[in-house]
Amino acid sequence: MESFGVEGESETLKAIFLPFVSPSHLVPVVDIARIFAMHGVDVTIITTPANAAVFQSSIDRDASRGRSIRTHLVKLPHVPGLPEGVETVNASTPMDIALKVGEALSLLRPQFRQIFHQLNPDFIVSDMFYPSTVDAAAELGIPRLIYVGGTYFAHCAMDSLERFEPHKKVDSEDESFFIPGLPYNLEITRSQIPERFKTPTEFSYIMKKVKESEKKSYGSLFKSFYAFEGPYEELYRTIVGTKSWNVGPVSSWVNQDVSDKRSRGHGKEEEEGNGKAGWLAWLDSKKKGSVVYVCFGSMNNFPDTQLVEIAHGLEDCGHDFLWVVGKINEGEGRAFLEEFGKRVEASNKGCLIWGWAPQLLILDHPAVGGVMTHCGMNTVIETVDAGLPMVTWPLFAEQFFNERLLVDVLKIAVPIGAKKWKSWSDFGDEIMERGKIGDAIALLMGEGEECEEMRRRVKALSQEAKKAIQIGGSSYNSLKDVIQEMKSFKLEKLNPKDEKPLA
Ligand code: UDP
Repeated sequence: MESFGVEGESETLKAIFLPFVSPSHLVPVVDIARIFAMHGVDVTIITTPANAAVFQSSIDRDASRGRSIRTHLVKLPHVPGLPEGVETVNASTPMDIALKVGEALSLLRPQFRQIFHQLNPDFIVSDMFYPSTVDAAAELGIPRLIYVGGTYFAHCAMDSLERFEPHKKVDSEDESFFIPGLPYNLEITRSQIPERFKTPTEFSYIMKKVKESEKKSYGSLFKSFYAFEGPYEELYRTIVGTKSWNVGPVSSWVNQDVSDKRSRGHGKEEEEGNGKAGWLAWLDSKKKGSVVYVCFGSMNNFPDTQLVEIAHGLEDCGHDFLWVVGKINEGEGRAFLEEFGKRVEASNKGCLIWGWAPQLLILDHPAVGGVMTHCGMNTVIETVDAGLPMVTWPLFAEQFFNERLLVDVLKIAVPIGAKKWKSWSDFGDEIMERGKIGDAIALLMGEGEECEEMRRRVKALSQEAKKAIQIGGSSYNSLKDVIQEMKSFKLEKLNPKDEKPLA
């Protein structure tokens, strides 16, 4: 792989990456770190042992490929109430424990500073949830690049809500309004926007800090690609006033081997439960494009009533399906799903994956013809990259905005009809009925001209995604640009220009 240099510079550029401890932030930040290492940057990723276990095999493979990359471990300090060994925020983490993880991470601030001093990097890439790292970088006189999860699109939409407060001008939760100031006229209802825009929450305070540190950062890194949301990338730069580089799709750029794809985001190379290895044989037995892949990311927990509706919706939809049910605790819901799993396996209609699925491998499989997603941005980009249309079922975070991008702007998805934004830790009372699930899948997998058009559009975007990371592509150029800029910054630091005398 090419290493990007600038004239007069011979020393290797050194970077520290500090990913946040939830899979949906950890996974892409580690991918970005690996892309930098792939292009000649010396990379150290700082994290805790349990989080490192999730990606260490990829780092070891990269090191054996001759890349200069390693993990630096820190122990998460003990705080009262945080169970031993819990270092991650995911679907199984209750909100009170997630807050304890946050508290423990904040105790690490002095240690992070100390490690930064000790490792003496030329720049730092840290997750948005470490706002204080912008000051730590300033102390060292080096740039901090912020990793901002989500899309440019969603950030522009949320900025518009903060700035113009259109949601305060409607009378009810169900009334829709336009989001002002965007290149495309977009409508959303008040019930679909995150709670923090309506009532200050603890998260509003966190996001205020994130925003302040974003503006103080040298620039930001995103994981999508220009053809996906170009006009919003430009708008974001104007809004935030910093530089920004879009360097994706990060998943396919760095996970090119089957072993990388299989282990991504998961310590063990195989998923658990009855889907173990079975999913591949099952998909192999299916016709091209005939299977719906159903997955709701790493943070979601459906109540039992919703699981039952999904199960029936899938069983009755008339299409084969591969459903990642995730980790389900003992109880009625699990007992129901176990029975359901046996039944659909016997009828050969479906396959269930319990625990973590090797999503990149699944999306690559020719039997998969469409995806039902909660609009988590990682999954969305991976799905677009694979050239597959989607059923959108947004749940929390910025997912309802992502749905608008996929349905209204790009026209590559069928909305299931979700009406209410939820917190990731509290599902709320909106249950999606089986009929709606089946109807959306019928539209996704249908044969009409509209469905064909949707497939053609997403295939074209997939081509653009592939081009973006090739030499001369938009993401390739962005990466080259940011690396050269970091090198120039380093050179200037080493050889400061003589101060011009005042006239
Ligand atoms: N993922 C996976 N297997 C799973 C669940 C998730 O590989 O069983 C990966 C998926 O490929 C994506 C990330 O985890 O990269 C989930 O991020 P996303 O933004 O889609 O959703 P979130 O977890 O933030 O809700």
